[in-house]
Amino acid sequence: MTLQRAPHRNDELVEDCIFCKIVNKEVPADIVFEDDELVAFNDISPQAPIHVLVVPKAHISTVNDLDEDHAGLVGRMVLRAQALAEARGIEEEGYRLILNCNAGGGQTVFHIHLHLLGGRQMRGFG
Ligand code: 5GP
Ligand code: ZN
Repeated sequence: MTLQRAPHRNDELVEDCIFCKIVNKEVPADIVFEDDELVAFNDISPQAPIHVLVVPKAHISTVNDLDEDHAGLVGRMVLRAQALAEARGIEEEGYRLILNCNAGGGQTVFHIHLHLLGGRQMRGFG
């Protein structure tokens, strides 16, 4: 099987990016958190009772585009997901955090986002 490349790299086709449009309030979303750096909103097609996407406001296409300069940002994405899980009362029962990279990893929106999934028992990977 040939894995497809991402349709664009960082800074290309940003104007067509659905998550940039959500960040810029050009497309509505059910936003549950926002600060200068991050926005979090409910997934439009939830895979669990709680399915939130934690998204940097800056357009970064894939995990492959991250470097050392993004270490703080990625850490704060995880900590934001942790805080959202706690706010929803699922920190003790547990939850799943996912970063998909490129087509073979199941990535469909090429603006990085951390999935927070919870509210049901997670099993395996699929
Ligand atoms: P990926 O497969 O790239 O890791 O995840 C993309 C996620 O974004 C999917 O779970 C999909 O349901 C969600 N998504 C795609 N378009 C929209 C949208 O316009 N609004 C919201 N809220 N979620 C979206
Ligand atoms: Zn974007």
